[in-house]
Amino acid sequence: MKYNFKSILYISIALICSQFAHAGDEINVYSARKEAYIKPLLDQFGQTHNVQINLITAKADALIQRLLKEGKNTPADIFITVDAGRLHRAKSAGLLQAINDPDVLRQVPSQYQDADAYWVGLSVRARTIAYRHKTVRKEELSSYEALTDTKWKNRICIRSSNNIYNQSLVAAMLAHQGEQATQSWVNGLVANFARKPQGGDRDQIKALAAGQCDLAVINTYYLGKMLTADVAQQAAARETSLFWSNQNGRGVHVNISGVGITAHSKRPELATKLVAFLLTNESQAWYGKVNLEYPVRDGIEINSILQQWGPFKADELNLTRLGELNAEAVRIMDRAGWK
Ligand code: FE
Repeated sequence: MKYNFKSILYISIALICSQFAHAGDEINVYSARKEAYIKPLLDQFGQTHNVQINLITAKADALIQRLLKEGKNTPADIFITVDAGRLHRAKSAGLLQAINDPDVLRQVPSQYQDADAYWVGLSVRARTIAYRHKTVRKEELSSYEALTDTKWKNRICIRSSNNIYNQSLVAAMLAHQGEQATQSWVNGLVANFARKPQGGDRDQIKALAAGQCDLAVINTYYLGKMLTADVAQQAAARETSLFWSNQNGRGVHVNISGVGITAHSKRPELATKLVAFLLTNESQAWYGKVNLEYPVRDGIEINSILQQWGPFKADELNLTRLGELNAEAVRIMDRAGWK
């Protein structure tokens, strides 16, 4: 087949036009959330709205570095993380813009969104005390503060201080108790460690089951996932019970997985629609079913494992504080020798 100049020109124009026609119909997502825990929802949005979703998954700090480097040329529209601290970091670095839709903001309880609307929570994650029910009675437990009691010496397992979940737990303590009390709490906690911090939250549960420690501090969805995993993990999880901490006071420490619209998004309206979609009843119920997290909105049906754990009072601290106090929390942990 022969092409003359004219037909090549027409084909080129057609190609360029088709590209422009689709220019607005894609959304680029930078996500620190594992693909399995967000992609199905994104795909659903893509199909319903005829939008192509391009998903890039990496560690939150790596994505923040990438957004900084790309500056206003970034293709990213949406930034997703699994903690409020990283969203705050992105906001502070000028990488996010305010979400303008009051309907979206109304959906999310105020403690689970940025004070200036730069990010909103999508799911709630509780970090509480797990205990080995062979050796610990529920009545012996009360609060995070009481974990410094000398009766727990050499009995507590927890992951390292470079983990953002622990940093946020300490930041919440700072917000409630101030610097001095928090420093002595962290000192006392470290003094009770059963071993040098290592591994993730699942590893603390396995250590509990193996009798290496009697208490651990974990995000609850890890226990839930182990209860539905392979036989060995199920066995370890069954040795472990959850205790809802600080129920006579401020409540359990919670964090969120959340989302912000990038400062240089070329399609903030479409990005806002995606955020709204992630807050619908169906999306919110999906988090419970698949991620074993709690919905950020009230009145959403939750997974049966979560139902068995029962309701709990959550700390009402505005999660913006976790980001603001992160650096101080890390200093306190370093001073206490929390590895
Ligand atoms: Fe996690």
